[in-house]
Amino acid sequence: MSKFNESYIITMKDIVREGDPILRQQTEEVTLPPTNEELETLKCMLQFLKNSQDPELAAKYKLRSGVGLSANQIGLNKRMFAAYFHDEKGNLHEYGLINPKIISHSISMIYITNGEGCLSVDRDVPGYVPRYERIKVKAIDITGKEVTIKLSGFGAIVAQHEIDHLNGIMFYDHINQENPFKLPENVEIKSVF
Ligand SMILES: [Zn+2]
Repeated sequence: MSKFNESYIITMKDIVREGDPILRQQTEEVTLPPTNEELETLKCMLQFLKNSQDPELAAKYKLRSGVGLSANQIGLNKRMFAAYFHDEKGNLHEYGLINPKIISHSISMIYITNGEGCLSVDRDVPGYVPRYERIKVKAIDITGKEVTIKLSGFGAIVAQHEIDHLNGIMFYDHINQENPFKLPENVEIKSVF
């Protein structure tokens, strides 16, 4: 039994940091239908993100603010992630996704001017992280039903960051090694903010 049930409060001590091999491995597909335990774990992960963005709760539990969390970031070898954020248009997004798969993406790309951060990385890594501007993701949602979600802009960045985690990829793997602020050539690319 995983300890991450609905009443468990995830704190920073539960977050796996870089250097741990679980962040570098391809995680395993969740057998469908997901168990109640897996759905509860997802709710628990989602609650952590909400708590981390609530100034009072973040101070109380000493949480670093986060918009996405993958299961291997809490030590679970399962293809699932939670995300909770406002996009650049101010719309609130809330996802708990199982076995997410990018089924199509734009050619055009985007990046965040300030680069990306990660709850598993306790240091600043400067540089641009190019991501697809739009993606379509197929997954099982937190209620257990199959969904296809279209994401663009910041939302697409968050989902690509989390799906990368499930494939053992860290955000800085995408940063140009010679010049961290060099953008890919021959492709349309712009900043989100
Ligand atoms: Zn991350």
